[in-house]
Amino acid sequence: MYPAQVGYYRPDSVEEALDFLDNNEGKVLAGGQSLIPMLKLRILKPKYLVDIGDLKELSFIREGEVVSIGATTRHSELASRKIPGLEIVQETASKVGDIQVRNMGTVGGSLGNADPSADYPALFTALDATMVIRSKKGTREVKAGDFFKGAFTTALEPSDILEQIKVPTYKGYRQAYRKVVRRAGDFALVGLALLLKMEAGEVKDVRISFTGVGERPHRPLEAENALKDTKLTDGDVSRAMELAVKGVNPPSDSRGSSSYRREVMKRLLKNTLEEMRGAS
Ligand SMILES: Cc1cc2nc3c(=O)[nH]c(=O)nc-3n(C[C@H](O)[C@H](O)[C@H](O)COP(=O)(O)OP(=O)(O)OC[C@H]3O[C@@H](n4cnc5c(N)ncnc54)[C@H](O)[C@@H]3O)c2cc1C
Repeated sequence: MYPAQVGYYRPDSVEEALDFLDNNEGKVLAGGQSLIPMLKLRILKPKYLVDIGDLKELSFIREGEVVSIGATTRHSELASRKIPGLEIVQETASKVGDIQVRNMGTVGGSLGNADPSADYPALFTALDATMVIRSKKGTREVKAGDFFKGAFTTALEPSDILEQIKVPTYKGYRQAYRKVVRRAGDFALVGLALLLKMEAGEVKDVRISFTGVGERPHRPLEAENALKDTKLTDGDVSRAMELAVKGVNPPSDSRGSSSYRREVMKRLLKNTLEEMRGAS
């Protein structure tokens, strides 16, 4: 199906894009991997597309204690770059879609799209990242935990542009992003971002975040708290598995039932914790 007719504007700078969005009914276009299918299905019918996909000023990875990732950085760039203290970003990016999707799709597009089964929302929630958002009114910062409002809904207003994501580093943490898919390249049935800091055989810190189990990323704080200061025994892991699914009611669809997704959540957490426990 062809999209409805739409105007196209290609700004030379973020400032130009913001001016245009302030004065017109426009929709930001980055890699087009989610937006173009929605236009073809006529789920969205914007008046203009504002193509920021090639704006160099939004494509960067700046390392430091806090890492800054520009919104139009492609998944493939993140997949090919090991960032010290944020190795999980590379692992997650390499599991997004297939190579064509990774070459076109952007980190900002994935976050702006907020698909309930996408990988980065869970990742950046686990990492306690900050979204830096620009509009004609100025720049504001929103924590990942407050950014995702629901399925395909975020704190972004129509005339906003997500400029960058600021991420604290987690040096000394064991890090993993695991996802269960029906076919290679699929969205996650369930995905798990996990960061674990062990000292002298005890859990000093742990961060857990799931995708695919609700409208927003799910961070089970009770499970995290229960794991802290434990030796990560089998009993500790079992308790965390139960707490991780407490109050969670994942969707049922053709890929899996709600109860199956809950079971996958538990198994993913168990397997990844056990793997990390065994790692030196
Ligand atoms: C076959 C296929 C498989 C896929 N598999 C996966 C997968 O396994 N895991 C996964 O997570 N994703 C997957 N995706 C989605 C993919 O990651 C997309 O790249 C991503 O969702 C959107 O990024 P984009 O740059 O293409 O954004 P676009 O499609 O251009 O835009 C998406 C939305 O974000 C908004 N937007 C984009 N950039 C900004 C910005 N800087 N500021 C404000 N709003 C912005 C747009 O207005 C639009 O609403 C898949 C897509 C396809 C086609």
